[in-house]
Amino acid sequence: MRTERSEQLYAVARMRMPGGVSSPVRAFGAVGGTPRFIARGRGAILEDVDGNRYIDYVGSWGALILGHAHPAVVRALREAIRRGTSYGAPTEAELELALRIQEAFPSIQKIRFVNSGTEATMSALRVARAATGRSKIIKFEGGYHGHADFLLARAGSGLATFGLPDSAGVPEAWVRDTLVAPYNDLDAVAALFEQFPDQIAAVIVEPVAGNMGVVPPKPGFLKGLRSLTRRYGALLIFDEVITGFRVAWGGAQALYEVEPDLTCLGKIIGGGLPVGAYGGRADLMDQVAPAGPVYQAGTLSGNPLSMIAGRVTLEQLTPALYRQLEERSAALAEGLREAAEQAGVPVHIHRVGSMLSVFFTERAVVDYATAASTDRARYARFFHAMLERGIYLPPSPLEAWFVSAAHTEAHIERTLRAARAAFREVARGIL
Ligand SMILES: *Cc1c(COP(=O)(O)O)cnc(C)c1O
Repeated sequence: MRTERSEQLYAVARMRMPGGVSSPVRAFGAVGGTPRFIARGRGAILEDVDGNRYIDYVGSWGALILGHAHPAVVRALREAIRRGTSYGAPTEAELELALRIQEAFPSIQKIRFVNSGTEATMSALRVARAATGRSKIIKFEGGYHGHADFLLARAGSGLATFGLPDSAGVPEAWVRDTLVAPYNDLDAVAALFEQFPDQIAAVIVEPVAGNMGVVPPKPGFLKGLRSLTRRYGALLIFDEVITGFRVAWGGAQALYEVEPDLTCLGKIIGGGLPVGAYGGRADLMDQVAPAGPVYQAGTLSGNPLSMIAGRVTLEQLTPALYRQLEERSAALAEGLREAAEQAGVPVHIHRVGSMLSVFFTERAVVDYATAASTDRARYARFFHAMLERGIYLPPSPLEAWFVSAAHTEAHIERTLRAARAAFREVARGIL
């Protein structure tokens, strides 16, 4: 596989941009080698600047549930862009997207659009602190909620990938109110509430962890968080930036039947354009300016292109489509499991709907500590063996793989053929 053009671009980019990239994991730091510069995407296929083609399981980190350049999204964007790209004024498009999201998420009585998931979680926690008059929050080790200062405490994938416990440039005082518990550990959360019974504003959680690889909630974990937060007068915030419209039309809260007070969304709801949103109980959201005293604003928030791409994307998400995603993702996970077993490579494969992970470890993975036990060298070998065979996986063992509506049975078959060979390569490395 020729990668000359990517190598040239990367060499220049590294001199002009930190790490040569606009977001850390893209630099292939966890797997080594040269990141591919992408020229175009169509359906399930990515093409790089050297003309290599790959079946894509990154999907812009989960945003592209329909695959690349879906015709309906492209058509709608082409029409919209002629009418202008931003007005800094209300539009019908943002109301339409809001209504569509509220149909899927009955817990979101009111919603505010922002430009990224980072803004969504930061703002939701501002609302929670204002509404409760408390300052502490609980997050989970390995849970990633964007890069707001006070959330950069043991925050998973990007950070875990680089082995940084925290970010430089975040004063200790700014994470002093951030309490951290292991994921899936209800007793640890209960202990924090006992220690600070009237100081905790909110618990923020990825209802299916997706930034330490895919780690599903244990039975009763989310319901337990719901009852603990109620008992202590704290709010429950679901960060569904990945899981919203991914694991089900109504997100993880529909799948596990737990209603949070506030929900953060992003990724899929922008159809591949920059977006975020937070919403929930009307009395809480009415704290947000101009309705209430919590300030939060954005020059490009509710951008008409993002709103239209999001709305058209959600229109395509029929029950039949979710069934297809479920079947293809199950076939992929099952095939990977068999291939690993045949090659004699110990793995744990987790899947919820169309998000999945392959952990190269013999231990059951239930939280960050066990997720981090994954053999990174084996993942790196597997990653490159797949890349060579035209399969584009996340360049980190702690990121989720995403199946899109554009992945056909033939794509899954080709992926499994490559995986059988890739697992054998990994096995040779073990011997
Ligand atoms: C991606 C992600 C974010 C941050 O969203 P950005 O748009 O990258 O700022 C927040 N929470 C979760 C769970 C995410 O996966």
